[in-house]
Amino acid sequence: MILEARPPMEQELNPWIAAETRFNAAADLLKLDDGIRKVLSISTREITVHIPVQLDDGRIEVFTGYRVQHSLARGPGKGGIRFAPDVTLDEVRALAAWMTWKCAVVNIPFGGAKGGVICDPRVLSKFELERITRRYTAEILDFLGPEKDVPAPDMNTDAQTMAWIMDTYSMHSRHTVTAVVTGKPLSLGGSLGRPEATGRGCLFVTQQALKQFGLTPENTRVVIQGFGNVGGMAARLMARAGFKIISIIEWDGAVFNRQGLDIEKLMAHRRTTGSITGFAEGEDIDRDEAMFLDCDVLVPAAKENVITSHNADRIRAKILCEGANGPTTAAADSILAAKKIFVIPDILANAGGVTVSYFEWVQDRQGYFWSEDQVNARLEEIMVNSFRNIVSYAEKHSTDNRTAAYMVALDRVASAIMLRGIYA
Ligand code: NAD
Repeated sequence: MILEARPPMEQELNPWIAAETRFNAAADLLKLDDGIRKVLSISTREITVHIPVQLDDGRIEVFTGYRVQHSLARGPGKGGIRFAPDVTLDEVRALAAWMTWKCAVVNIPFGGAKGGVICDPRVLSKFELERITRRYTAEILDFLGPEKDVPAPDMNTDAQTMAWIMDTYSMHSRHTVTAVVTGKPLSLGGSLGRPEATGRGCLFVTQQALKQFGLTPENTRVVIQGFGNVGGMAARLMARAGFKIISIIEWDGAVFNRQGLDIEKLMAHRRTTGSITGFAEGEDIDRDEAMFLDCDVLVPAAKENVITSHNADRIRAKILCEGANGPTTAAADSILAAKKIFVIPDILANAGGVTVSYFEWVQDRQGYFWSEDQVNARLEEIMVNSFRNIVSYAEKHSTDNRTAAYMVALDRVASAIMLRGIYA
C-alpha cells in the first residue's frame, strides 16, 4: 500500500513541493481564506542578480545570485545565504518560505527570506569569495537592512562572509550597521552562544519530549546523523546532560557504543585523524544502517531528504528531533505518523539558531551585549514555550506535531496580513 502511494522520487525530493505539501495540509485544516492562501503561496519578492567578478588570474566571470523574500508581514526578512554550484531559484524559494514558518513558530518578529549564489567555493580563493560576496551585497543592497532583510550564514558561508556583507552595507550607508546581518564574529557585534544555539535548541526540545515517554536522559539512547555544527553541538550538549549517545553517523562511516560514546574524546579523535571511524572506544558500523538502530531519539542533523517513503518504516526511534532542515520528505510523514513516532519538526527543532540570531539583532540594535547565560536562558524559554504550544495545539486539534507547527505558523502570519490589510 505504501508502495502505491509513493510519489516519483524526483518529486518527493523537491524542496518546493515538500514545503507546498505541508503548507497546503495546514491551510486546509485552518480553512485559510483563499486570498491569504494566494498571498502566502508565492514569494513577496524574488531578486536575481548576475554579478561580474574579476578572478585572481584577471579573467572576468559572471555569477548568478538570488535573494528571495517570502513574507515580510511579521517583520524584516530573515534567512541565510548559501554558496553552492547547485543553488536553484526553486530551492531558495522553498527555503525562504521555510524561514517564514520557522520564525512564526518561535514567534520572533521576522519574516522569511533566503539567498544563494551559484558558485563552487572549493575552486575559489578567499579573495574571489570576498569579491563575489561584496558585489552580490551591492547588487541587492536596496533590499537589505536591519528593518528590511537580515541575512545570516548558510551552506559554505560563515562569520567572515557576514563580516564582508556588514562592511559593504556599512560603506554604502557611510556608518557602521552591525544589525544588517547575524552570525557575525563576536568582535563585530556577534552574539555569545550563537555557534551552539541550534544544537542547544535541539537539546531543549528533546528534554521536553522525553517527558511524554517518561524517559530520563540517563536511560535515553540517542543516534545522531551529522557531526557538524548542529549534530556535533547537540551531541556534546546532550552527552553533558546525561544522554547516552550510542551512535554518530558521518558521511564516511558510523561509530557505535551501546554504553554511550564519549563525545569529547570522539571530537578529539576526529580532530587528529580527520574521521570519526577507527575510534578506540567505539565500534565502526555500516553508516547506511545506523539510522535504523533501535534507539529512543534519532537526530538527523546532516542534510535534507534522508528519511523518505523508501526507508521511514525502518526507523525505530520513539522521538525524531529534526536538527537538519527538511530531513524528512512529505511522503514519509504519514509513515512516521502510522508508527506513532513523536516528531519534533525542523521548523521547531532547529529554530534555536534563528532565535539566537534574533538575539544578535536585538543586541546590535541596543548596542548592549548579553552574557552567555542570559542568551541560553532566553533561548530555553522560547524553545520550551514553543514546544509546549505546538504539542498542545496538536493534541487539541488531533493532528501531528508538524501539521500543528505549520498551522500555528500560518495562523500567525495570516493574522498579521489581515490586521495590516492589503494596501491599495
Ligand atoms: P555542517 O556542515 O556543520 O555539518 C553537517 C555534517 O553532516 C558534516 O559534518 C558532514 O560531514 C555531515 N554529513 C554530510 N552528509 C552526510 C551524510 N550523508 N551522512 C552523514 N553525515 C553527513 O552543517 P550544519 O550547520 O550542522 O547544518 C546541518 C543541517 O542543519 C543542515 O540541514 C542545515 O540547513 C541545518 N541547520 C543548521 C543551522 C545552524 O545554525 N548551523 C540552523 C538550522 C538548520
